[in-house]
Amino acid sequence: MAEKMLQFVRLQQQTPEKREAAARRADFSEIYAGFEPAHAAEQASRCSQCGVPFCQVHCPLQNNIPDWLKLTAEGRMEEAYEVAAATNTFPEICGRVCPQDRLCEGNCVIEKGFESVTIGSVEKYIVETAFENGWVKPPKPRVELSQSVAIIGAGPAGLAAAERLRVRGYQVHVYDRYDRVGGLMIYGIPNFKLEKDVVLRRWKQYEEGGIQFHLNMEIGRDITLDQLREQHDAVFIATGVYKARDVVLPGAELPGVVPALDYLTASNRDNLGDRVPEFENGSLNAAGKHVVVIGGGDTAMDCVRTAVRQGAASVSCLYRRDRANMPGSMREVKNAEEEGVRFIWLSAPEAFLGTDKVTGVRATAMHLGLPDATGRQQVEPIPGAGFLQPADLAIKALGFDPEDLPLAFGEEALAVTRWGTLKVDHKTMMTALPGVFAGGDIVRGASLVVWGIRDGRDAAEQMHMYMQQKVALAVAAE
Ligand code: FAD
Ligand code: SF4
Ligand code: SF4
Repeated sequence: MAEKMLQFVRLQQQTPEKREAAARRADFSEIYAGFEPAHAAEQASRCSQCGVPFCQVHCPLQNNIPDWLKLTAEGRMEEAYEVAAATNTFPEICGRVCPQDRLCEGNCVIEKGFESVTIGSVEKYIVETAFENGWVKPPKPRVELSQSVAIIGAGPAGLAAAERLRVRGYQVHVYDRYDRVGGLMIYGIPNFKLEKDVVLRRWKQYEEGGIQFHLNMEIGRDITLDQLREQHDAVFIATGVYKARDVVLPGAELPGVVPALDYLTASNRDNLGDRVPEFENGSLNAAGKHVVVIGGGDTAMDCVRTAVRQGAASVSCLYRRDRANMPGSMREVKNAEEEGVRFIWLSAPEAFLGTDKVTGVRATAMHLGLPDATGRQQVEPIPGAGFLQPADLAIKALGFDPEDLPLAFGEEALAVTRWGTLKVDHKTMMTALPGVFAGGDIVRGASLVVWGIRDGRDAAEQMHMYMQQKVALAVAAE
């Protein structure tokens, strides 16, 4: 090991090539290239194989990172893939979209003064190599079981559960109101972070593996939860959070003031080749417009960067705190700045202006005040520091809350927290309804793909135990 690894003293951190900002602005392709084989092996060999790997501790999936880095450094790629796939349903997606600076890489303790191992890029490389070589196979059960499960929602949480349960032999039925599989990985996250073929090839494999998808089917509208419970032995709810948080401001109803997810979904659909009337008629298209995005999270970053690529005349982002207090990933802010986005820190909107459509946003400068009980500094407007930001498209990106699921599903017994997320027993992941489990954003609130995968994986184990117990009880009762 010693010769191959610990190369951080000799080799500097190098990420895969990042495309020039001018080229990035012209298309929706991913901005990072993949590693070349020799380069991946070199970068993986920088790992010092820590006895207590903090990278692994801080990965929500507890991926066995040191092992797959060592195998990559040794060129044993098929084994590296097997280790990576053992804990992660979509390592190639996490390698692209995880905020590694806050998770694995941010906790890499290689040695003071040396930059972290490029864990995410190596993870992506391992799985892309596996796909190229045909090592990634559809889920294959050893035995077919007669029991069936319903999974509501084909996002990362639902798909991770579906895959695990199918491998165990269950008849897996995934229901989704959309026409494609992937949830926010298809209709939320833009192409330049995650190209859609990466998600669609997994969908194809799942179909080949016998997972049955029922698309364009909304639970609560086309079929009730109760009916699903009758038809299946267990149910997993993974419906995500979609209710946009709103700003109650004068002019918010003007044409041209739009919610972030409508805007991003229209763009993703257009990139997928769908006909999108709102994109074609310009109402959800930034081409030639002065765009103002309100918010400072990752969704806001996706909006500003999408607007740049659509050919906006100018793109500004209003955020009421400063750069250091921004919730979005610093990596994404940097990418946005390189691509020409203007950030107006410490500024908050007061009104959307215009008569028959939005023409501008009246905003005020803010300053950071004293910390509140949570320790976070409060923001207060600076009197007389108002300004006008011209806009013919204003995008509200202020986060998401859960829909009222007990109401939508017609199941009052489905208990929710005071934030509207589903209440589950944290050990069993079961909701207040027996045999109905839940995970992903609908339990955590808006979160991350990697946490969705973690929940799907854990829920699958709990559902398996529940169904085994059900069988054992039935046998005992005979
Ligand atoms: P979702 O992915 O939301 O999937 C839920 C599915 O349930 C959807 O397909 C929906 O159609 C379906 N559904 C809902 N209600 C019903 C119903 N009644 N009947 C049938 N089907 C239903 N995370 C990252 O890790 N990295 C990122 O870079 C990142 N970028 C993001 C960018 C944007 C714009 C957004 C909005 C989110 C981003 N996230 C990112 C967060 C991440 O996408 C989510 O945390 C993750 O997708 C949640 O997974 P999920 O399976 O719980 O829900
Ligand atoms: Fe890092 Fe995410 Fe991969 Fe875990 S899943 S190793 S946090 S990139
Ligand atoms: Fe390797 Fe860094 Fe993880 Fe240590 S913390 S095992 S150096 S990747």
